Amino acid sequence: MIAPHADALIGHVRANRERYVEELKAWMAVPSISAQPDHAADVRRSAEHAVARLRAAGFTQAEVLETDGNPVAYAAWLGAPGAPTILIYGHHDVQPADPLELWTSPPFEGTVRNGKLYGRGAVDDKGQCLMHIAALEAHLRVNGKLPLNVKVVFEGEEEIGSPSFEAFLAREKEKLACDVVVVSDTAVFAEDVPSLTTSLRGLVHWEITVHGPAADLHSGYYGGIVKNPLEALAQILAALKDAHGRVVVPGFYEGVRELSPQERADIAALPFDPAKIAHELGVTELGGEPSRMPLERAWFRPTLEVNGMYGGYQGAGQKTIIPSFARAKISARLVPHQDPHHVKHAVTTFVQRVAPRGVRLEVEAHGDTRAVETSRDHPAVAAAARAMELGFGKPPVFIGTGGTIGPVSSFDRILHLPQVLIGVGLPDDAIHAPNEKFDLSQFFGGIETMTYLYDELANALR
Ligand SMILES: [Zn+2]
Repeated sequence: MIAPHADALIGHVRANRERYVEELKAWMAVPSISAQPDHAADVRRSAEHAVARLRAAGFTQAEVLETDGNPVAYAAWLGAPGAPTILIYGHHDVQPADPLELWTSPPFEGTVRNGKLYGRGAVDDKGQCLMHIAALEAHLRVNGKLPLNVKVVFEGEEEIGSPSFEAFLAREKEKLACDVVVVSDTAVFAEDVPSLTTSLRGLVHWEITVHGPAADLHSGYYGGIVKNPLEALAQILAALKDAHGRVVVPGFYEGVRELSPQERADIAALPFDPAKIAHELGVTELGGEPSRMPLERAWFRPTLEVNGMYGGYQGAGQKTIIPSFARAKISARLVPHQDPHHVKHAVTTFVQRVAPRGVRLEVEAHGDTRAVETSRDHPAVAAAARAMELGFGKPPVFIGTGGTIGPVSSFDRILHLPQVLIGVGLPDDAIHAPNEKFDLSQFFGGIETMTYLYDELANALR
């Protein structure tokens, strides 16, 4: 449903496109690199810049909020009593620009070439924050109000893993209370394939140490009578999966749901060529559970991976020893409905059970990030899908991501709220790399999408 005043709003944002690009360049000129302590003042300046821009958009409540680390830019418009409240999340900090010599134009001087705006922060994430500011401003200028209550949180530490964000959320719980969180810090599946991300995987990890003899032993004197810790570790790791890549740890898949026929059909319809991807990655073929599609494996199946293993002699030539210990780091990406504590316990118990005799085992388990999922049937997700269709001219596909986004997990854990992940970056935007860019067609389509989004959410959540 298109709100009756949508024409005037869309006319407004189309007439102001050039201004939005100039404003994005001005914000990108502030090198808010959170990883580098000598840019701390710039990160603060970036938060102040965002607050000033939100005030100019018509937010009377706008302020820099302190955290234990970098400041958050916050604004609220609460002039729609009885209407739902959304919280818009983005981040104003950026990745370092190194290596500088690989940039075609200076990273902090936004430059348009061939319809793309190049520079650090163009799409990750200042440009995506500005899509919201522009759309909110259009509503406030054209209609004098918003169709629902809006809180804006632009974080300053996302690129360093959001170390202060969870404590900030817990402390400001009341101030940030809302019905739905809207996160714009993701990409679509491909150009011309508008997408909504509805699931993210969680993460737990282990460090396994196999202790053997008190010191390295001469393999001539002791080979054949002492169990080798490296060999024991290899046996343990090999026992985790069957030959088809399926994890055999009892209880590992507990809670994992099967995809619906619709979800399977949607994945099968996405443009994805396993042979091409294998070639790009430099592998002979893709691996994993053969009975499932690669994108299903990457988004909706849990994994158990060996991330590193070491022990014994690694130097030049030969050193004929039985090493005194061996160590491996392994991790699991979790999918919705898996309990991180249960998985940690299941793997730890299994590893201890399959360890051969003659060695001593130490297993440390870490992390408890649950997967996050918002059902595509949730009214807020359906509203976002309609807005995206209006903004980009075709209905979005629903996708997952195999990765883990810290703030999304934090919103889930601290505020227990449904989240809509509506981002419009492209897979080739070179985020975190030299020549980061934002296609202006995506930027403008994103602004129009957000302009529709607020009306759609107001209607859907009422
Ligand atoms: Zn980002």
